[in-house]
Amino acid sequence: MERNPSEMDKIPETQKLGKLMASLFRASVADPGKLPENPKIPITELEHWELCNKCNMMRPKRSHHCSRCGHCVRRMDHHCPWINNCVGEDNHWLFLQLCFYTQILSSYTLILDFCHYYYFLPLKKENWDVFVFRHELALLRISAFMGLIILGGISRLFYTQLVGIFTDTTSIEKMSNCCEDISRPRKPWQQTFSEVFGTHWKILWFIPFRQRQPLRVPYHFANHV
Ligand SMILES: [Zn+2]
Ligand SMILES: [Zn+2]
Repeated sequence: MERNPSEMDKIPETQKLGKLMASLFRASVADPGKLPENPKIPITELEHWELCNKCNMMRPKRSHHCSRCGHCVRRMDHHCPWINNCVGEDNHWLFLQLCFYTQILSSYTLILDFCHYYYFLPLKKENWDVFVFRHELALLRISAFMGLIILGGISRLFYTQLVGIFTDTTSIEKMSNCCEDISRPRKPWQQTFSEVFGTHWKILWFIPFRQRQPLRVPYHFANHV
């Protein structure tokens, strides 16, 4: 009996795609952690702030001035050209979700390609003369090729992002090796991930349809200075 994969898995695929699109949209438009023009700095935390020599504004340590966006971003990780936005304290969690759901969806695409090629609808040589089969085969190959490229690239990026959060180091800090000598409190991974996602509830780490509330961590601890 012929099976139709698109009907069989329509709902889960739509859900994954919805989450992916929500992460992409929100990561692109969300404020990554831009600093206000005149931040109110508590006196007790004054020593943990510094002056940016590019925009002459006070910012908490670990902030970075993004030359493309033209302002400082709190706990900036990097500027991502794919979302045309900085990845910083306030949207890092959305960027991680984007990587995660992209991996799931590209894996799913590869599995469907594989099943379609070998299992669901065997493309036999006698069908090759038919227009639709010839083109379907080409589309399958393109889909599998794109799936492999995206899965490989995003998996590598996601892995480095996870290592960064485990070690509580941003990509910028890793590149500049600025924090190797700084003794900072070793935090458990649950704490570093909770700070990025703004909640201790692990199930919520996977949900893009919510508002992130920063955990109330004082700067002297959050910024390991
Ligand atoms: Zn600046
Ligand atoms: Zn930027």
